[in-house]
Amino acid sequence: MGNKQPTRRPAIQLKVKTILNRIQHFAGFVYREIRFRNQGSSLRIDVHVEAHAAMAAKCADCLEPAPGYDRLPERSWLFVPLWGIRTDFRYAPRRVQCAQHGIGVEHIPWSVGKRPVTTAMMAFLARWAQRMSWRETARTFHTSWEAVYRSVQWFVQWGLAHRQLESVESIGIDEIHWSKGQRSANFLTVIYQIDRHCRRLLWVGPRRTQATLRRGLAALGPQVVSGLRFVCSDMWRPYLQVIAAKVQHALHVVDRFHVTMNLNQALDQVRRAESGRLRGQPIAARLKKMRWKLLRRGSRVRGHARVKLNALLASRLATGRAWNLKESFQQFWRYKSVWWAGGFLDYWCERAMRSRLEPMKRIARMLQAHDELLLNWFRARGEVSSGAVEGLNNKIRVVTRRSYGFRTYHAMELALYHNLGRLPEPQLTHEFC
Ligand SMILES: [Zn+2]
Repeated sequence: MGNKQPTRRPAIQLKVKTILNRIQHFAGFVYREIRFRNQGSSLRIDVHVEAHAAMAAKCADCLEPAPGYDRLPERSWLFVPLWGIRTDFRYAPRRVQCAQHGIGVEHIPWSVGKRPVTTAMMAFLARWAQRMSWRETARTFHTSWEAVYRSVQWFVQWGLAHRQLESVESIGIDEIHWSKGQRSANFLTVIYQIDRHCRRLLWVGPRRTQATLRRGLAALGPQVVSGLRFVCSDMWRPYLQVIAAKVQHALHVVDRFHVTMNLNQALDQVRRAESGRLRGQPIAARLKKMRWKLLRRGSRVRGHARVKLNALLASRLATGRAWNLKESFQQFWRYKSVWWAGGFLDYWCERAMRSRLEPMKRIARMLQAHDELLLNWFRARGEVSSGAVEGLNNKIRVVTRRSYGFRTYHAMELALYHNLGRLPEPQLTHEFC
């Protein structure tokens, strides 16, 4: 009888309230009504929230139910826009009298502190701020740069407070140049984790002094520092001293990427000095437009560039001799035994010292002074990746150059953690983006 008839259901109207209850239900609160509001010429949506009549408010400190004290005036929180329309939560918070914590504002699950933006919207903005510039994020979602900045700040602070640092074994320490100028304020010190299973930015601080690195290591904490097995860095003296003092138990490696960079700088100094000396003479033409051909690895210079390079090498110019020294150092990294690598290092440094090229002699002296750190590269072989620091540096440049419209150092620091820190994210009931 009745079973044979298809049951008739009343048509269910999908309302905004239904959607909100489905994706973001907060126990103890109800969505009372959702209304349009005209603010000047622009349309807005107000989501009016109300406390559940039968449930007590909770103390914000201990999350325990507490008797009500009084009610504050209505506040509003920016929510994720619906169909591009600015949307706000509106609610008049209660104050509670907690037996333990005294009188205070109740726990409001969509809110953090006094921030005028819901956590859902902060996470939404922060995620978009990883994909495009902060300015663009603000413009796209009809909010301010300031709101994007505060959202990223909350997101990053949450991530830093909840990240796991237990398994850090290898770190790379480096200096990064940013903004214009060569003053010490234009440098950053970065500490990366460069383990095979996890590569990320652990810490960043302004300047590149001993004090900077000391602060960085202190921020990681004694437990992380004592668990380190490998430290990679260049030969920047302040870093060497701090590493020797603070991380003496780990194997300190000067990595290949930095040595190559130093050799290239020396070669470039020789080339610049020589083109200056030879200005006006026909032979100077050999040095024209050679900078990048000289700095590339020799095996990667092909075709017409190779012909020009060969002509330069045949001309017995100082630049050619410097190039030969730079290129022959590649052999160093191919050794299997520390002993043979050490022999090669001595031989190479002797050649460089006899080269009468001051920049090359300076490199040789530096390499000799730190020969143990160089040879540690062979002792750590297979454990420390030589490309990790270079790769992370390149990613940092993408962030510092992208037009985030950073107004302060602090904003850039946040962007670096946000993009390179691989931070955990706060869990929300719904993925808005
Ligand atoms: Zn309490």
